[in-house]
Amino acid sequence: MEVTNVQVAMKTRAELSEFLKSRGLRVSLQKLEIAEHIFREHRHFTAEEIFREINSEYPRVSRATVFNVLNFFVEHGLLKKVDARSDVQLFDSNTEDHDHVVVDATGKIFDVILPEKDKESFLKAIWAKNPHLPKRAISSVVVHV
Ligand SMILES: [Zn+2]
Repeated sequence: MEVTNVQVAMKTRAELSEFLKSRGLRVSLQKLEIAEHIFREHRHFTAEEIFREINSEYPRVSRATVFNVLNFFVEHGLLKKVDARSDVQLFDSNTEDHDHVVVDATGKIFDVILPEKDKESFLKAIWAKNPHLPKRAISSVVVHV
């Protein structure tokens, strides 16, 4: 299988502030603190994970605030929701179109770009193994290894 790693641009607090303002969105200190924490490095995470990490750094930030800000970032294209695992909802700080490889033994997730011509056969193989999955068109393919 030929795969390409996805390059992810790092976002500084100043760039994030600029981005929010350019879209006419309110910039708050809490949004910037959460954004800075999330965009420090590219990653996939659950809302609960990010809440625990942010809470240890900024104890006054509530769970509800973290969850609201995550959804706010998804709405405005800074984060993507990913259905790479069936047990939890994951967020992805790489918002480019890409696919995922999940290592089931460790739970680790890697970003890959599958060649367009191979996607259909991947999907068919996934559906054959998981007949309960909806046969809807999906833009992101998840391969479990
Ligand atoms: Zn990803």
